[in-house]
Amino acid sequence: MENHSHDIQQIIAPEDLDARVVEIADQVRKDYSAGAITLVPILDGAFIFAADLARNFKDVPLELCFYKTKSYVDEVSGELTTYDPLLEPAKITGRNVLIVDDILDTGKTLSALGDKLSQLKPKSVKICVLLAKDHSRQGDLDIKADYVGFQIPDVFVVGYGLDYNGMYRNLPFIGKMA
Ligand code: IMP
Ligand code: MG
Repeated sequence: MENHSHDIQQIIAPEDLDARVVEIADQVRKDYSAGAITLVPILDGAFIFAADLARNFKDVPLELCFYKTKSYVDEVSGELTTYDPLLEPAKITGRNVLIVDDILDTGKTLSALGDKLSQLKPKSVKICVLLAKDHSRQGDLDIKADYVGFQIPDVFVVGYGLDYNGMYRNLPFIGKMA
């Protein structure tokens, strides 16, 4: 087991996360006119953000279809592994799908999932991320999120679902690894 001695500096406080989640949920409810949504949280990182969003959708008819990927080791974006069996076509085909991820970095994850989902012929697909990094590493993938919680500098962050080698997902704030 790794030690937990990393220096982590808070950059987004719990109350700011809560307030922004409420704003995003309100915007989504308006945009979909409270119509049915299939939420597709990308595990593991989106689990807290998606849970908080879902609670704030209140009256929206909502289904969940989880998807799991893994790409980061240490602070480096590596080869993307996906776990497709979690995708349930009946929840995607003909539905308004809202992909939820913790952070948009290179766009590799969201681009791969977007391709898979479009094969299942959803009615619409939008992307909601808690964080988006300010940089141009996205190259030619050209992935844009429809909803972004916070734009952050190109630093490695943890907490509120985001991890460093599996740790720190439970922190109630977003912190920068020093
Ligand atoms: P992308 O595929 O390069 O856009 O990376 C997106 C995924 O990488 C996210 O879903 C995160 O799991 C992970 N990731 C990217 N940046 C960070 C970070 O700063 N901290 C923790 N995880 C990150
Ligand atoms: Mg992730």
